[in-house]
Amino acid sequence: MWGVIVNRFKQGFRTLSYPKEIPSFPKRFRGRPIIPTTETQFLIDKEKDPLGAVVLEKKPAIDMGKCLFNEDMKTVCSKGTLIYSQDHRMAVSKREDLIIQDEVRLATALNEKTRRIFGRSLKLREVCAGSCGGCDAEIQAMGNVVFDLSRFGIQFVASPRHADGLMITGPVTKNMELALRKTYEAVPQSKIVIAVGACAISGGPFQGGKEVHNGVEELIPVDLYIPGCPPHPLTILDGLLRLLGRLQNEKRI
Ligand code: SF4
Repeated sequence: MWGVIVNRFKQGFRTLSYPKEIPSFPKRFRGRPIIPTTETQFLIDKEKDPLGAVVLEKKPAIDMGKCLFNEDMKTVCSKGTLIYSQDHRMAVSKREDLIIQDEVRLATALNEKTRRIFGRSLKLREVCAGSCGGCDAEIQAMGNVVFDLSRFGIQFVASPRHADGLMITGPVTKNMELALRKTYEAVPQSKIVIAVGACAISGGPFQGGKEVHNGVEELIPVDLYIPGCPPHPLTILDGLLRLLGRLQNEKRI
């Protein structure tokens, strides 16, 4: 027992001072993708991008809601290399804002009335609607001593009747459809819905499958989209704090 206490003292204070200080991410971290926009004549290697995350309109754009943040995506364009930046900020309020070219419109705060209710105490029910478990693991990590989610007044609850909103992962399998609808209906008004990960946003790698929906939005309205496969806990936390109006700076990057 004494050894445990001594070790604990040696470890010191582990909670990040986020959002005051942003920690440096390891080199392998794949943050917000940056697509080369100098060339207009792009060819897209469909084999490397079967989900259609790179969109060619007037300029090339990347749909973060479909991006799986994999290595192959880096060389998906014939000209220029897609780069994964070290920027963890990716959460947005509208689905179309996930399609990025030069600028990102980050998530905006809830309206004043809703923010007054949830701003200092937000209870969420997590629903795994057919995910692989990756996004759920990152959500769970937010509760550890490093991220310490509860210091922001955000907690997960067991019953949707005690929740202010839902945090959903997975593409929503047909088997989970009824359960998700019932859980959504059980949350009292006003309620918020947060889609976490490529699956919950667009179906992710399961997109187009017969037994799944292509994301939460096919069934219920979404207030916050957090891309990634899976998103880093700080990407999720950044989105939550923006939704609650506690990160007002850098609305656009
Ligand atoms: S987005 Fe990726 S990590 Fe999250 S549930 Fe889907 S496949 Fe798993």
